[in-house]
Amino acid sequence: MKIKIVQAVPEKRKVKPADELKLGFGKIFTDHFFTMKYHADRGWHDAMIEPYRPLAIAPTAMCLHYAQEIFEGMKAYRGKNGAIYLFRPRENSRRFNMSAERLCMPAVDETVFMEALTKLIIMEKDWVPRGEGTSLYIRPAMIATEAALGVHPSGEYLFFIVTGPVGAYYSEGFSPTKIFVSEDYVRSARGGTGACKAAGNYAASLYATKIAVGMGYTQVLWLDAVERKYVEEVGTSNIFFVLGNELITPPLSGTILPGITRDSVIRLAKHWGIPVSERPLSMDEILEADARGMLKEAFASGTAAIVSPIGQIYYRGREHVINDGRTGPLTEKLYKEILQIQYGEKEDPFGWRVKISD
Ligand SMILES: *Cc1c(COP(=O)(O)O)cnc(C)c1O
Repeated sequence: MKIKIVQAVPEKRKVKPADELKLGFGKIFTDHFFTMKYHADRGWHDAMIEPYRPLAIAPTAMCLHYAQEIFEGMKAYRGKNGAIYLFRPRENSRRFNMSAERLCMPAVDETVFMEALTKLIIMEKDWVPRGEGTSLYIRPAMIATEAALGVHPSGEYLFFIVTGPVGAYYSEGFSPTKIFVSEDYVRSARGGTGACKAAGNYAASLYATKIAVGMGYTQVLWLDAVERKYVEEVGTSNIFFVLGNELITPPLSGTILPGITRDSVIRLAKHWGIPVSERPLSMDEILEADARGMLKEAFASGTAAIVSPIGQIYYRGREHVINDGRTGPLTEKLYKEILQIQYGEKEDPFGWRVKISD
């Protein structure tokens, strides 16, 4: 794969943020981005790293009308020694192609995905922040660009990767969240697109989240669409509960996103000898465990925060406080371990870390 490189002229380069404590999330983007086009007759072509710019697409581009659009979320981490690492990037490439297949979009070859990613990050390496817990967020995406109305798979696509520095998620320490269990709205149903990072899923999740936030909660805890009994995910993260000494998370049955952090949590916990179950977990079971004093910890998992402790759950008019609203010991241990692996501070027994620059 030949990637054409067009450098941004020095006058057009942005000033890098001076205060890494104020980076926030998803507001600052780097000087360059990767683009590659697809045409049904030509396949993928015109791979380029070019100056960051607005896209030009037709008002009838199919992604705008029918949401044939997918994405990924990953990060580049800078170690204390200055080296830059990725965390399990091939898993993102595989998941991207799973999403693509489900939405009738063309696959991006793993080698091409990895080459685009590493070339872009190396070019933008001065943008990878140095502050503790900060990183360069990476957003690969694919959109349907054929200018045509009528619901059918597009014949043209654009694959692009944008990057931007993001702040430390816990710059002020862990703050356990308050979660609202939604019984009226669902995120995904069997046979739907819940296991894909498909853009439309997130638009569909906004309304329930708005209700939860309006009531003073941070996130929605989604239940299964059929019985509205079993926990599925929290916001845009996977969910874990510690009941007694068992770590429990819902199984990958097609309605939840197969999180890479989720998988890392499961593998680490098993490695430490903790009993882990991927099984359906109902609100009834959770509340019953709570009544017996066995609901020990709950947390969400995802690339943005690694793990995010849950301090309170609101369900059917009642608040259930977990671990006195404080971060549980396993939650904290998992957070520290994964963080240290990502930043090259700890041995990586699973081979998850990929160094892309010294
Ligand atoms: C991205 C995402 C996750 C977390 O996946 P990671 O690979 O751990 O970042 C979980 N649930 C949803 C709905 C997501 O979009």
